[in-house]
Parts: sequence; structure tokens; C-alpha cells
Amino acid sequence: MRIVIFGPPGAGKGTQGVRLANALNISHLATGDMLRTEVAAGSELGKQAGQFMDRGDLVPDDVIIGMIQSHLTEGEGMVLDGFPRTLAQASALDEALAGAGLPLDRSVYFKVDRKELVKRLLNRAAEQGRSDDTPETINRRMDVYEEQTAPVLEYYGAAGKIIEIDGTGHPDDVFQRLLFAVNGEPEA
Ligand code: ADP
Repeated sequence: MRIVIFGPPGAGKGTQGVRLANALNISHLATGDMLRTEVAAGSELGKQAGQFMDRGDLVPDDVIIGMIQSHLTEGEGMVLDGFPRTLAQASALDEALAGAGLPLDRSVYFKVDRKELVKRLLNRAAEQGRSDDTPETINRRMDVYEEQTAPVLEYYGAAGKIIEIDGTGHPDDVFQRLLFAVNGEPEA
């Protein structure tokens, strides 16, 4: 299965994406994690991307698409987390899958309101100290989401392809909703 999980910063894509990938025995491809690995390794890509990430801006499409493209058609499937985040990335995904004759099986949108998102990200800042979880950067990431990523939701929505779930409440409950959205039935 090829699944996109979609939602604003702090919606729980990472937490739930890992769980879903484990439950379905497919890989979890998170562009944010891939980028942080590059930054930590001090690679050229990491140096290029880090400046954008620290400002709360998106890393340019060509960098992201170049980084992920070869992985999009690998294996038995994957959970895509944090990609696509722009319309150009959504087209690149469509093209890669169409070229390989593979379907995108599900797109799931985690709905959480902005007030709750900011609260979660500030908590995460206190707990984990991620360099882009400062109050200014959080606000910037929310604006960037609304300007550049929300249109991707409309793009999938127009194709009748998106399943919306409530991303609030206990993570176990969110996970049940996610499994239901993906499988059509709850699982243990
Ligand atoms: P969050 O969803 O909380 O913002 P991520 O770990 O998904 O966290 O992303 C962190 C940062 O990495 C983003 O703010 C952005 O700078 C960069 N990034 C991640 N994925 C993409 C992408 N698909 N396109 C452009 N930039 C990205």
C-alpha cells in the first residue's frame, strides 16, 4: 500500500506514520527526518536544507524531489509523511507512480486546529528542543502550511482522494481512526 499522511506541523504525522508503517509492515518515509539526518551528517544537501528549515520555510522542491524520487516506487509500499508539501511535489509524486504503474492507495488528512497545534509544538520544544520549534518559527511554519501546503489538500480533495480524520485526543484513539481510514475496519 502507498499511503500519504497529510496535515499541518504538529498534527501527529510522525508519531502515527511510524505506527502505521509498522502495523502494515511497509516503510516510513518522512522527508523531515531524512533532512534532519542530512543536516546532522553535515552533507551538502544538509547544509543547503538547514537554512530553510531553521527559518520555518520549505526546502526547495528540486532538492526535496531529488532526495525522495528514487524511494517513491520502492518496495511493497510506504507511508509518506511530510511529502508532498507543495503542488509541484504532488505532481512529481503522481508522475513517479504513474510512470511505474503504481497506485496511490490512500491519502489521509489529520485535522487539528491551529491553537492546539501551537500548544503541541511548544510542548515538543520544551521536551525535545528541535531547532525549528521556537515560537517565531512555529508561526512561520503554520503560515507556510496554509499558503503552500493546504492547496495540496484541495488538489487531492478535488480528485475525491482524501480521507479526513480527527487528529485530536489520545494517540491510541487517533491511531484507531487512522487504521479505520486505511483498512475500513478497526484493528488491535
Ligand atoms: P513539521 O511537519 O512539524 O513541520 P517535518 O519534520 O515534517 O515537521 O519538517 C520539518 C522541516 O523540514 C519543514 O519545516 C521544512 O523546512 C522541511 N521539509 C520537510 N519536508 C519537506 C518537503 N516535502 N518540502 C519542503 N520542505 C520540507
